[in-house]
Amino acid sequence: MTMPDKNILDLKVLISEEEIQNKLKIIAKQVEEIFPADEDIYVICVLKGSVMFCIDLVKHFKHNVQMEFIRISSYGHETKSTNNLQAIDLTLPNLEGKNVLIVEDIIDTGLTARFLTDLFKIKHHPQKVIFVSLLNKKCARQVDIEPDFYGFEIDDKFVVGYGLDYKGYYRNLPYIGYFPN
Ligand code: 5GP
Repeated sequence: MTMPDKNILDLKVLISEEEIQNKLKIIAKQVEEIFPADEDIYVICVLKGSVMFCIDLVKHFKHNVQMEFIRISSYGHETKSTNNLQAIDLTLPNLEGKNVLIVEDIIDTGLTARFLTDLFKIKHHPQKVIFVSLLNKKCARQVDIEPDFYGFEIDDKFVVGYGLDYKGYYRNLPYIGYFPN
């Protein structure tokens, strides 16, 4: 299958489907230990990239869960962060005093994570905000921010799959892959 300027046959697996699914259980347990068992968790899925991760993660929660979806874009069609965040939809219910879990696909420069963390604290006044990310590109960080929990630390390479795209493609892959140079 050939996509605009990449060929799926060149794609190398970086993190397998099995590794991802095993890691989800660990992250779910870490999150569940933070929030009181009898309180709801408001899960905020940051579209589009975290869709797969978020949907698979919530399946493991024993808490009552409310799911919300917001949409932010930072890469456009590039493979490098544009440092230009576009908040496409930030519509949310009243989260004052609630337990909030922000679910991101990957933290790269950290600009999106910083924006979201500030937004929730300043605008929504939740009781507690926990930030999880499936992937963490620590070496690409431009602002000093770390998720509370993350699945895998990766090198500064552009990855696709499991929600992450290149020009809109590859989100449906059940694993994380990359195109070698
Ligand atoms: P940051 O604001 O931390 O630079 O970037 C966060 C967003 O950029 C992520 O939510 C994701 O949508 C996108 N992004 C960062 N690194 C990658 C990558 O390696 N592959 C893809 N497909 N998107 C990425």
